[in-house]
Amino acid sequence: EGRFLTDFEVDDHLLGSGGFGCVYKCKHKLDLQNYAVKVVKILKKTKKKILREAQFLASVEHQSIVRYYQDAEEEDEIDTDEEEAVFGTEGNLLFSGSVEKGVVSLLFIQMELCHGNLSEKLENLVDNPELAYNWFRQFMEGLSHLHSLGIAHNDLSTKNIFLDKNNNAKIGDLGVAKEVGSTILTEDSLGAELYRAPEKKKGVPINSKMDIFSAGVILYELLYPIKTGFERCLLLQANREKGELPIDGHSGIDLLVKNMVSHHPRERPTASDVLALLPEIKNEFVGSLDRRLRGI
Ligand code: ATP
Ligand code: MG
Ligand code: MG
Repeated sequence: EGRFLTDFEVDDHLLGSGGFGCVYKCKHKLDLQNYAVKVVKILKKTKKKILREAQFLASVEHQSIVRYYQDAEEEDEIDTDEEEAVFGTEGNLLFSGSVEKGVVSLLFIQMELCHGNLSEKLENLVDNPELAYNWFRQFMEGLSHLHSLGIAHNDLSTKNIFLDKNNNAKIGDLGVAKEVGSTILTEDSLGAELYRAPEKKKGVPINSKMDIFSAGVILYELLYPIKTGFERCLLLQANREKGELPIDGHSGIDLLVKNMVSHHPRERPTASDVLALLPEIKNEFVGSLDRRLRGI
């Protein structure tokens, strides 16, 4: 029996599953804390690389980035005869997508347990416009830290901004984060295309400005409550395809959204530019969101 099963008690309920694996709520038997543990299958031949990447994630410590813990553990080598889609992981700073035969290992990645994500909270911000501002500021703090390490998140969306037990926003799902300058190998996961910068295509080097486009879409969603999923889809699609977003004002905050989602990457501010600007436009942010939420 591997260390994972001896160290953790697995809670019955699955927190969720994605293209790369399943995430379970688990209690550590020694420290008695709850964690989210992601179980992914990896091909043995890419194991070293993925473990190195998992180790890198564990070295990132920032209050606005979901904590990954050391020694992502591997166990259970299985020989697969079938052709099986084995993807990279939260270690997928990296490798993905090939469908091959081979020896597969299970990898267990221990993460800080989060409680919900921004996407679930967007509908319920009435009376709380200041919370939305704080979440966005925390998000930008995490992003500017990640970028300072030369890493782009590469899959930012409201679903990947998590809330911790103190209701602080943290960037999570770092599975496809990549070094700036490395080449894009895969397309984003389904649902993520509305956040994908228009210049982001297979073969193009990753640039942190691609994250800024996604962050601009997230800022738009925070500031302009959208009534239905259908409306949201139409609006964000028009933004991606034609650079059109209904932004009514000319205030600092409106200008910021426009610049962040610009189709010209050079017009987009960096995460630290955004951070520096935020205190100045806090009142506009909170005030305009408050008016929209109350339908004034
Ligand atoms: P994709 O494979 O396309 O990236 P995904 O992002 O939904 O899809 P995962 O990253 O595997 O897939 O996450 C699966 C689910 O687990 C998600 O719904 C997410 O909300 C949840 N989850 C991931 N990390 C954590 C965490 N640290 N704490 C709590 N829940 C988490
Ligand atoms: Mg996700
Ligand atoms: Mg994911």
